[in-house]
Amino acid sequence: MTTIGFVGLGNMGGHMARNLVAAGHTLKVYDLVDQLNESIDGASPQTSGAEAARDVGVFISMLPAGKHVADLYLEAGGVVDSCRADTLLIDCSTIDPETARRVSEAAAAKGMSMLDAPVSGGTTGARAGSLTFIVGGPARALERAHSILDSMGHNIFHAGKSGAGQIAKICNNMLLAVHMTGTAEALALGIANGLDPTVLSDIMRRSSGGNWSLDNYNPYPGVMAGVPAASKYADGFLVDLMTKDLGLAMAAAQASQSSVPMGALANNLYRVHQQLHHAGQLDFSSIQLLFAPELKSE
Ligand code: NAD
Repeated sequence: MTTIGFVGLGNMGGHMARNLVAAGHTLKVYDLVDQLNESIDGASPQTSGAEAARDVGVFISMLPAGKHVADLYLEAGGVVDSCRADTLLIDCSTIDPETARRVSEAAAAKGMSMLDAPVSGGTTGARAGSLTFIVGGPARALERAHSILDSMGHNIFHAGKSGAGQIAKICNNMLLAVHMTGTAEALALGIANGLDPTVLSDIMRRSSGGNWSLDNYNPYPGVMAGVPAASKYADGFLVDLMTKDLGLAMAAAQASQSSVPMGALANNLYRVHQQLHHAGQLDFSSIQLLFAPELKSE
């Protein structure tokens, strides 16, 4: 079993840290929010990120965005300065690939290996220990990380070198936004023309329009039980996080001079929805409200 430093005990990190404790690892934890430091039974709370990184075999972070990651790892007296050279660093946050590469280069300069390992699966997957990890960085470091990641998830993919995990995650979420938006649009068109949303969903699922959103996450209320659309779009994967990820996709497209018209339109629609419907804290399938305004009065 390994001594692990874990920083960022929010909606995702708290569950991930609990699963590591349950798997028998020794955890040193830290979050800027005081109450969260006491929220992981069996872990030992620390007074800073650097303290959590001292004398551990593995250090994991789960933070909101690139600037938080850069500050935690790179500031003077931060994680890179405080770790032993044999500590394996794993950042599970979803951030821009440039920051992931910059932090990994700073770590490598001190002899440490670092992986970017953003996740898919949301808070449900984090709680259940069934996250998907999309990893960038040296293959040998991933071999070392495997059993640790295994305590928090089932599917572990090696996307390529440093930063590749972030790129793959960004591409996946851009595609998710595109097919969720298209699904919501098609459902609204059918309903406006007299179709029943359940009947139309069944037809499209078994036809060439079938996709993950229709199969697992139908955005129209009343079609599927146990999804956010069945509970007024509460919880799930928030519009605020989807717009963040679409922003990362737009930046990656600009950096590589890629044309992403579908992603750009989804980005625009999600931002309009976020502002028009104050939807930031709703699940991302609430994009249905943009196409079926009759739902807003229900
Ligand atoms: P969150 O805001 O709930 O948690 C982040 C935590 O980091 C907060 O508790 C905050 O206090 C802490 N923090 C920030 N800076 C810190 C610092 N310097 N030192 C210590 N603690 C610090 O966010 P979340 O929902 O847990 O998401 C974390 C990451 O996972 C994000 O990058 C997000 O995009 C990604 N993600 C989230 C989901 C989801 O469904 N919530 C799904 C997939 C990926």
